[in-house]
Amino acid sequence: AERARLAASSGPGRTADGHPVKLLLNIGSAKDLRPGAEGVGLFRTEFLFLDRKQAPSFDEQVAAYAEVFGQAESVIVRTLDAGTDKPLPFLGLPEEQNPALGVRGLRVDRLLPDVLDTQLDAIAAAARATGTHAWVMAPMVTTMAEATGFARRARAKGIAKVGAMVEVPAAALRAGRLLQEVDFLSIGTNDLAQYTFAADRQHSALADLLDPRQPALLELIAICAEAGREAGKPVGVCGESAGDPLLAPLLVGLGVTSLSMAPVSVPAVREALAGLTLAECRERARAALS
Ligand code: PEP
Ligand code: MG
Repeated sequence: AERARLAASSGPGRTADGHPVKLLLNIGSAKDLRPGAEGVGLFRTEFLFLDRKQAPSFDEQVAAYAEVFGQAESVIVRTLDAGTDKPLPFLGLPEEQNPALGVRGLRVDRLLPDVLDTQLDAIAAAARATGTHAWVMAPMVTTMAEATGFARRARAKGIAKVGAMVEVPAAALRAGRLLQEVDFLSIGTNDLAQYTFAADRQHSALADLLDPRQPALLELIAICAEAGREAGKPVGVCGESAGDPLLAPLLVGLGVTSLSMAPVSVPAVREALAGLTLAECRERARAALS
């Protein structure tokens, strides 16, 4: 048992029978990087700029992205996710009655297209400067038109791989079609739960509604994973559920190919996966769905 635990303490994530599952980090800046994972699955770029009154310059952005690219073997950068729980004062967005359903995430691009253009340019420049292939994804993608527009803009800047976050049920239901336009999907279960159960993710009295074990949420994840399998493209989970050692095997059983989590969660998730075969993970997923 001790040998198994040691073997399970580093290297790529695997189930007991060797099925690989990429274990990745959620970070807000280079300070959060830790050894032991295969790369960064969610670089929340808005965390670099939360307290700012002025928009970050192109050069500042290049420096911040290059600092992460230089230290991690692969990085998925999420473009700015502003709004609701992540206000960015420098954007000067109008006040809204219902901000969780308003102009947030990729939707900010409707009002301020220069912000995304500058960010994509800065990511591409940082990737060139550090000799990395940047993977970039947009938050809150809802329609095909949004995914297509984002992918076209990102590819025109020279971004190597372009993805969409699945945080809205509409996107999960259309995962197969989305994967004809983008190279990968990353499921944000925090927001996907909020929008599936119509329950504010920060509302402690509604925590039972936000439980990621709810079959309705698991079905949406299963749709995405199955679409990824058919398209031969990666589909990961980067919400908090990916870092839960009880849920991680279930997500693998549903078919997701990577789990991205807070650095502190990696050892427990690695150990949980190493203790179960893929068939056992699938059995847990089947049981949870029913
Ligand atoms: C999510 O919504 O699950 C997610 C990973 O993004 P964030 O928590 O930053 O909204
Ligand atoms: Mg989110």
